[in-house]
Amino acid sequence: MAATFKGGIHVKEHKNTAHTHITAITPPKTVKIPLSQHIGAPCTPCVKVGERVLRGQKIGDVSSGLGCPVHSSISGTVKEITYHIAPSGARIEDVVIENDFQNELHPSLAPSKRELSSTTADEIIDIVREAGISGMGGATFPTYAKIKSAIGKVDTLIINGAECEPFITANNRLINERPEQVLEGTRILLHVFGLDEALIAIEDNKPHSIQIMTEMSKDEASITVRPVKTKYPQGDERQLIYALTGRQLPTGKLPADVGCVVFNVETVASIYRAFYLGLPLIERIVTVDGDCIKEPKNLLVPIGTSLKALIEECGGLTKTPKYLINGGPMMGHAMWDFENGVTKGTSAILALSEQFTPTYDQPHECIRCGRCVSACPMHLTPNYLAAYARRGLYDTTDELNVRSCVECGACSYMCPAYIPIVQYIRVAKAALNAKGVKR
Ligand code: SF4
Ligand code: SF4
Repeated sequence: MAATFKGGIHVKEHKNTAHTHITAITPPKTVKIPLSQHIGAPCTPCVKVGERVLRGQKIGDVSSGLGCPVHSSISGTVKEITYHIAPSGARIEDVVIENDFQNELHPSLAPSKRELSSTTADEIIDIVREAGISGMGGATFPTYAKIKSAIGKVDTLIINGAECEPFITANNRLINERPEQVLEGTRILLHVFGLDEALIAIEDNKPHSIQIMTEMSKDEASITVRPVKTKYPQGDERQLIYALTGRQLPTGKLPADVGCVVFNVETVASIYRAFYLGLPLIERIVTVDGDCIKEPKNLLVPIGTSLKALIEECGGLTKTPKYLINGGPMMGHAMWDFENGVTKGTSAILALSEQFTPTYDQPHECIRCGRCVSACPMHLTPNYLAAYARRGLYDTTDELNVRSCVECGACSYMCPAYIPIVQYIRVAKAALNAKGVKR
């Protein structure tokens, strides 16, 4: 039986693009590349307006602290250095580049000349940092820092191909069409950590992906494909670690504290491209879907391509969306500007009508059905958290461990009273952070 965790929910999958091959988007006329695409300090631009840049050239970097560089995803001329307001409210600086359609690669980019076996962990960490790789499953934590902090502490390497959010099939298509990149990237990570076993987790609603990876790794004693149950949020690293190892990750701790380290499959493929092809993270696979999209697709997209260009590539909109979402419908963020660009963490762009959006305008009273409690993978009491947060009793939500909430949205999804539980929880967390309350 496929491994799983306690709690969670079954959501309608809407994996409409599961059989849609990855296609490269028509090269965009301009790209708008955010200088802050990872957790940590934002990059400082290292190019000037009017300067010609090449594909893969570094255009911004972090001088100290946590962070990794960003690179140009096309060749062309820097038109403007501007900013936009992110869904979080943060002001993000962007480098706008006009495409010269020469697709000229920066001459400094070159694959490692060393064999993997003779490359040290420090050298690989350096390659990963210089390639600007950050978590591509949505977390956007700089990958070099994750590797560095986990070396010597972990006994289990987990490759996350669960992809439990509805609609998104980008990881699924990557495994089906480029399994060798996932496999080679996994070998690099096994070498870095000095481990002799990696577990590749794939939800059991993707039998073809499981079959392909199993076939590819059949002569590889160190790599095991582990089907996990199709359940949301199976792809959350806490739930994945529990499902595969039985270890529970306490709130505030890192996976390395329980001997595990988890990487998304597309991040692993990027590590492969950095080491063997010398390429930084300048493009990614994005699922474009939703009932307002004419022809849903899986697109290979240069970082910084506008959401408008993605939608046009899919034949445009058939009706006006109520929400444009960056990411999945459960944990993604609503966007309002079609000109903003795809980032390293953008796995999907969804254009959804009223039909897919619950009516939170007039929530009813809680009927104490307990569905949210059964759904919560963190074993919290979302009904009480929402009720106390609604009344401004934030200290009480803290006593009920509000900060253990991973904001998966399973509680809101299940609530028959349409109470926007996660929104109340986010407000409570923000209020506790603002007060500087520590637990
Ligand atoms: S309380 Fe948090 S962790 Fe629990 S179901 Fe709701 S959003 Fe998910
Ligand atoms: S699911 Fe909604 S109605 Fe039911 S107990 Fe939770 S908050 Fe109350």
